[in-house]
This record gives sequence, structure tokens and C-alpha cells, in this order.
Amino acid sequence: MSESNQHRPNMLPYGQQWLDEGDIDSVIQVLKSDFLTQGPAIQAFEEKVANYVGAKYAVAFTNGTAALHGACFAAGIGLGDEVITTPLTFLASSNCVLYQGGTPVFCDIDMETYNIDANQIETKITPSTKAIIVVDFSGQPVEIDRILDIAREKNLILIEDAAHSLGADYDGRKIGTWADMTMFSFHPVKHVTTGEGGIIVTDNETFYKKLIQFRSHGMTRNPDEMTQNDGPWYYEMHALGYNYRMTDIQAALGVSQMDKLDDFVQRRREIVEIYNRELAEIPGLVLPYQHPKANSSWHLYVVRFLPEYFSYSRREIFETLRNRNIGVHVHYIPVYLQPYYQKLGYRKGLCPNAERYYETAITLPLFPKMTDTDVKDVVDAVKIFRKEI
Ligand SMILES: *Cc1c(COP(=O)(O)O)cnc(C)c1O
Repeated sequence: MSESNQHRPNMLPYGQQWLDEGDIDSVIQVLKSDFLTQGPAIQAFEEKVANYVGAKYAVAFTNGTAALHGACFAAGIGLGDEVITTPLTFLASSNCVLYQGGTPVFCDIDMETYNIDANQIETKITPSTKAIIVVDFSGQPVEIDRILDIAREKNLILIEDAAHSLGADYDGRKIGTWADMTMFSFHPVKHVTTGEGGIIVTDNETFYKKLIQFRSHGMTRNPDEMTQNDGPWYYEMHALGYNYRMTDIQAALGVSQMDKLDDFVQRRREIVEIYNRELAEIPGLVLPYQHPKANSSWHLYVVRFLPEYFSYSRREIFETLRNRNIGVHVHYIPVYLQPYYQKLGYRKGLCPNAERYYETAITLPLFPKMTDTDVKDVVDAVKIFRKEI
């Protein structure tokens, strides 16, 4: 082993926010203003995100999970409805179906992109299928053109969980206007942050109105929508909604963060180029595949260690990297393997590719604030496992 054995003094996380004085000032302005919530910063943030992706409408939520719940409500998902989704995602993308009483139907992944396999979606469609929730895993968009064709032909609503892919594009067009509704998350590990936060963008006015209603108790104050009107104080509840409103404190941070999005994505792409170059020569290490039509915004950099090439197990590799203060992770445990889903009747073996992926994957640190030295620390640590030939 030629690499240095020196360890980093501190743990390098796999992802982290990047805030500057401008972000902090923007939040302080709100704290000094009259509105901490339901004020002007929300609309400013919604407009900024909608304009960035080219969508007509945006509705901000407390977090991405609440936003997905809203999308399922707007899509009319209810008891007995099936929703096709990927097992290789965070729990929220299928839990939102359960919140509405629907049934998630897991469709296996493609072993190159790790996204839902567009070739298998049709085999999962039944008369009960109502929607498809796709996830742009790691920031690389799914084959959204093909999936949209399937959705249109079968009359299904298409929801895109784009928590990983803000700033990405497919076939030259930004993620955000392809699906019927697209969700972005603003958790600190995502591309830009509001602390906690999420948003749905859409071009569809009906969905937009439902989302607005859902995030605020299912209530309306619009006289045109009310069954009666007792006076200026009057409001009506028309659906079982929630309090899923984002605060202006969060939205102000989001407005300021959005200005940096393109620079953040650019820096992520630079780091990925270094990883791709420096790790290319390790036999049995599978680097991320890039679909020719997709331009990833690189939320995650996932590598797979093919067991037959390494003298250590994935777990040993993971633990060695962690011991060297490289904050590796595993994204994700296939959702249906969770005990809660097992109780619902899902079984191991359902999506063999996702399970095979899960056995071998490790996520390397990737976030814009990483220095070139941080990147080199990761590269050096991973190179330890290259077998001497
Ligand atoms: C982060 C994330 C979510 C949920 O977003 P939150 O803002 O944390 O609620 C949903 N789906 C995926 C794929 C995510 O990565």
C-alpha cells in the first residue's frame, strides 16, 4: 500500500449545507419583520423555485415528506389505489402512499442507473393503479420521457420525487416540469436548504389548488369556493388537510440559498469528475453510470464494491472508511425490507436488483463545501482496498 495511513482529524460528513452571511442576514430580516409565518417570504421562495425550473405553480411545505403527502392527496390517491414506485429510495417516497390509504407497488431498478426500470413498469400496472412515483436516485433523472408516455397511455398521474435532482436536467430540460407534480426537499444534505422544507411544483391549476388547501387544514377563505358566507371572518373546511405550512424564516433562507444553486451543482460536478478520474482504475469498483440523456445534479456519489474483487466485505470496507473519518453511508435499504413493510406482507426477493445493489453499495461524501483536500482524503482511503496484483 503506497497510500498514506494518516487519518483525517475530523469526520467528513457525506453531505452538508453551505450557508454564508447573506443567508444569515436574510433570516434575520424575517425575524425583525411582522411575519414569521404566512408572510411574503413564502411567496418569494415559491416564485423563485417555480421560475428556476420553469413551472407555473409552486407550493412550499414543512418538509419534502409533507410535500409528497400533499401530492398524493392532490392526485386523489385513496384506499385501494395502487401506486408504482421504486424500492431504492428514502422511506418517504412510499410512506406518502400509505398515509393516504393507498398501496405501494415496488418495481425493480435498472442496474446501471439504479433508477426504476422503465421496462418493468408496465408489468406492474393493474386496474387499481392510480399513479407512479419516480425517484431521481442520486440526482440522475429517471427516463422521464418514456415513463411519461406510459403514464399518459394508461391514464396514470406521474409524481416525481426530485429530492435528489434539483438543478438536474433530462434531454436538455430542467427537472420540475416533466411530471404532473415534482417534489424537491430542502433538508440540509440536499442541494439547497431551508433547515427543513419541501415544495411541489406543477403546471396544473387543479393540483395547485388542492395542494394549497391540503397544507392548511383543508380550509378555504375564498368566497367563490364556499357553500355559504356568514361574514368576513368565515372560512370553510372542505377536506381533511394538515398544518404543513413552511415558516417565513425557512423560506427566507431558501430564497437566499436558491441564488447559489447553480454554483453548488457546478462544484458537485467538479468533485464527481475527480472521483471518476481517480477511482477509475480500481478493479471491481463500479462507478456511477451516466444515462446519455440525463445530466445529474449529483446529490449522491455511490460506488459498488463487487465482492469477488475485494478481500474485505462491504461492511469491513464501510467500517474501515468510517474509522478513517470518511463519513460514508449506504443509500438505501430497499424500503420493503423494513419491518413495517414486512408486516404489511412485502417479502425479500421482490426486487432482486435493488437487493443486489444494497449488498454492495457505499455512498462517498459529496457536498459543495468539500475542499480538494477532503476529496483527496476520500480517494486515498478508497484506494486502500485496491488489491495488489
Ligand atoms: C430527502 C428525501 C425525501 C424527504 O424529504 P424531507 O424533506 O427530508 O422530508 C424524500 N425522498 C427522497 C428520495 C429524499 O432523499
